[in-house]
Amino acid sequence: MIKEFSKGRTLVCRLPHGADLLAEIQAVCERENIRAAWIQAIGALSSLRFAFYDQREKTYGEKEPAGSYEILSLSGNISLKDGAVICHAHIVAGDDEGRAFGGHLVRGCTVFAAELVINELAGPALSRVKDEVTGLNLWAEN
Ligand code: ZN
Repeated sequence: MIKEFSKGRTLVCRLPHGADLLAEIQAVCERENIRAAWIQAIGALSSLRFAFYDQREKTYGEKEPAGSYEILSLSGNISLKDGAVICHAHIVAGDDEGRAFGGHLVRGCTVFAAELVINELAGPALSRVKDEVTGLNLWAEN
C-alpha cells in the first residue's frame, strides 16, 4: 500500500503539565482537524507506560516502570479508525541512569513537559482497518 501526500501545516505544541500524553496528542489533532500527520516529540514524563505486542498471542502487554523519565524520542503518525482520529506512536524514554525503555505508546504517560511537532499530510484519506494476519489495525488500501 502506497499513498502520496503533500506537506500540510506544521504545528508546534507545548503540551500541558499533568496531561496524559497520548490523550493530549489526540485532543490537539481533533481540535486542529488533523486527519493525517507524522508526529515527533521530546520532553519529560512524571510517569511512564508503554506496551509490547505479542505477535503469537496477538495481544498487547503493558509495562509501567516506576519513576520519572525523559522522552528521548517519540515518533508516530495520525490517521483515522472508524472516522475517529487515532495516534499510533512509539516512545523511547530514558531514566536517571541513562537507561532507555520503550514501546508502543498507550495511555498512562503523564506529561511533566513536552514539545510536540505535527507535520500534517495533505491528500487522500488515511484510515485503519483490522488486519486478520497480524491482528493489528493497519492502514487500509483505500
Ligand atoms: Zn505500535
